[in-house]
Amino acid sequence: MAAKEDLFKKITSHAKEYGFIFPSSEIYDGMSAVYDYGQNGVELKNNIKQYWWKSMTQMHENIVGIDSAIFMHPTIWKASGHVDAFNDPLIDNKDSKKRYRADVLIEDYINKIEEKINKECDKVAKKFGESFDRQMFLDTNPRVLEHKSKMQDIQKRYADLMTNNDLAGIKALIEELGIVCPVSGTKNWTDVRQFNLMFSTKVGSVSDEADTIYLRPETAQGIFVNYLNVQKTGRMKIPFGIAQIGKAFRNEIVARQFIFRMREFEQMEMQFFVRPGEELKWFEYWKQTRMKWHLALGIPKENYRYHDHEKLAHYANAATDIEFNFPFGFKELEGIHSRTDFDLKRHQEFSGKKLQYFDSELNESYVPYVIETSIGLDRTFLAVFSYAYTEEQLEDGSQRVVMKLPRVLAPVKAAVLPLVKKDGMPEKAHEIMDMLKQDFKVQYDEKDAIGKRYRRQDAIGTPYCITVDTQTLEDNTVTVRERDTMEQIRIGIDQLSGFIHENIKPLAL
Ligand code: ATP
Repeated sequence: MAAKEDLFKKITSHAKEYGFIFPSSEIYDGMSAVYDYGQNGVELKNNIKQYWWKSMTQMHENIVGIDSAIFMHPTIWKASGHVDAFNDPLIDNKDSKKRYRADVLIEDYINKIEEKINKECDKVAKKFGESFDRQMFLDTNPRVLEHKSKMQDIQKRYADLMTNNDLAGIKALIEELGIVCPVSGTKNWTDVRQFNLMFSTKVGSVSDEADTIYLRPETAQGIFVNYLNVQKTGRMKIPFGIAQIGKAFRNEIVARQFIFRMREFEQMEMQFFVRPGEELKWFEYWKQTRMKWHLALGIPKENYRYHDHEKLAHYANAATDIEFNFPFGFKELEGIHSRTDFDLKRHQEFSGKKLQYFDSELNESYVPYVIETSIGLDRTFLAVFSYAYTEEQLEDGSQRVVMKLPRVLAPVKAAVLPLVKKDGMPEKAHEIMDMLKQDFKVQYDEKDAIGKRYRRQDAIGTPYCITVDTQTLEDNTVTVRERDTMEQIRIGIDQLSGFIHENIKPLAL
């Protein structure tokens, strides 16, 4: 655990040192859980957006995008259920005065049991060496089974308590499990209360109740209220989807783990409208399709897993999370939900406007069912960034930090480096820059020894370093050094563009 925490610290300081992420308002001592993206961070973030946007709106002929406003009519949040039910159960420790989410305290407790299982497994694996069958051990060892059944029991009890909104029961469960405050170490808890996560503000100059509006806590509602506009103007036929990328705001009780949980963040959401009765087939389709998208980045599949929901939200009839192995363990990265016709029906009811679709094949009108895929942009950033961070011991005894980012997402695709600052090499390098910058984000660097320049590019994840040397001036060839293997090849300047293009593509979607 300590090693993992240490690694996470290194990742956050690397993000700052190399212009990826800065704490917001830093010169005023920062603001908790708010971050700014720096010069490299914004490129990486934009590349993630583009990769997602393209996979949705270009690779699927029946998906289009929109960009709806953050401010929306306040009744939308009544219809969606957010005013009444977008709450987190919070609890305070009376000694430390620290505030926690009750569900997170319980989740952390369950994670500790999981850690115990893993430790147990590692211990036995060491003893038995190669012949150890991990799965068999997990399926049959009595102690592991006991731990597992305890985990399931707590999960089920918690889900039931939440469904019944039994706040006293949740407190009792926390006490029964002997959960202590990580700061004070005591069990001196307050009662559990519900806390609404929406930020509200006032519109216009007169402040009275009627002017209260909310900052959207999800982008999805902007899609629902525009669904007929898009369907009609785009002549969309079911099944079809609407995608959107945008900011969302949640007044999280405990914002932590760097950009994993922030109060202002970005979501990439897609709502897919289908015939009633076909939603589970499409749910399965999106479950597979979204996993493929993640894997096409080349990050090994053992870093991802599904987590099917035991407790379904009131509007859902199936739900799963894609979890990623963050430096602090497996956590939700994306949610895939079968939302039924809940949202559209509620908007029909609250707005008084019909939101039905006429299906000409069936010759009938209905309110479509919806499958949603909802992924956090910042969490995706954190996932690829933490996976990419690598410390390597080199043969010459030196160390390097290299960001093994998926090439398609790298902020800078290639650096152009004149070996020395004379003999016409900088001029030649600038010529190459001018040629490549039409198609790629490229960077010129002539300062310091070449080794140092390579390291700087490794640290921001640049896949290719192109070096101009004496031979370049004679035959128009350059060396191209690959980031991960550090291998160098020599190719003609006229081949560079095609070479980079070919090698930064993600796997086919
Ligand atoms: P969690 O259980 O972690 O609070 P959630 O289930 O509330 O997440 P959703 O409402 O399904 O999340 O939102 C969809 C996605 O938006 C999440 O999978 C996550 O990637 C992202 N997301 C949600 N809340 C935050 C946040 N506070 N900061 C950053 N990303 C977030």
